[in-house]
Amino acid sequence: MNKITERIETFTDLEGIKHKSALHPNEWTFVTLAKKEKVSSTKSGCPIYTFRFSFPHETDQLGSFSGQYIAIQAKINNKIVKRFYSPTSTPSDHGFVEILVKVNLESTGMSGYLSKMEIGEKIKMMGPVDGFIYKPGNFKQMVLLSAGVGLSPMILFQVLLIFPMKYHVSLFFENS
Ligand SMILES: Cc1cc2nc3c(=O)[nH]c(=O)nc-3n(C[C@H](O)[C@H](O)[C@H](O)COP(=O)(O)OP(=O)(O)OC[C@H]3O[C@@H](n4cnc5c(N)ncnc54)[C@H](O)[C@@H]3O)c2cc1C
Repeated sequence: MNKITERIETFTDLEGIKHKSALHPNEWTFVTLAKKEKVSSTKSGCPIYTFRFSFPHETDQLGSFSGQYIAIQAKINNKIVKRFYSPTSTPSDHGFVEILVKVNLESTGMSGYLSKMEIGEKIKMMGPVDGFIYKPGNFKQMVLLSAGVGLSPMILFQVLLIFPMKYHVSLFFENS
């Protein structure tokens, strides 16, 4: 069984600055559901929610880079279920992480579980788990391909475009 921790690690960002990291890549941390909002639904009627989870300390940051993702684990119907999600909040946000989740209508797993969580409930989170690291300024042009909730990491790239640099971005998106 994985050890649960509230231990605070540090991570170094792309500019070499050290930050406190709320999560650990190999150990679970309890985070608290702070906000749950239905933002849309798919053509087939699956609701799409934004979930905001608070870290144990409000000054902590996610500790991962855009392009990486996190894992969430819960005990559902006596089974340990672990799923991966792409943060839609920015790595520099303090005290919380947000994810965008399509709730499968028949879900017996995590998306259904998340949609039934009450504000204030805790769940285990770990990260960064994997992914690639996008470095702002590396590219002048970007082509983003996504489908369904694969849009989630693209939203984060959109946020990064706030940086005072000029990019040419093409986004191809399909949702059913
Ligand atoms: C890198 C990565 C990033 C992701 N990011 C997002 C995101 O930002 N937003 C989002 O909505 N979804 C994301 N997903 C998908 C997400 O991890 C879940 O698969 C999704 O929420 C459905 O989970 P569920 O347990 O509700 O599935 P259910 O509808 O309950 O699952 C139906 C069946 O499929 C199986 N199943 C479903 N998902 C998985 C899985 N991941 N691994 C093994 N078996 C599975 C279940 O065991 C079950 O038998 C991401 C997946 C990956 C790999």
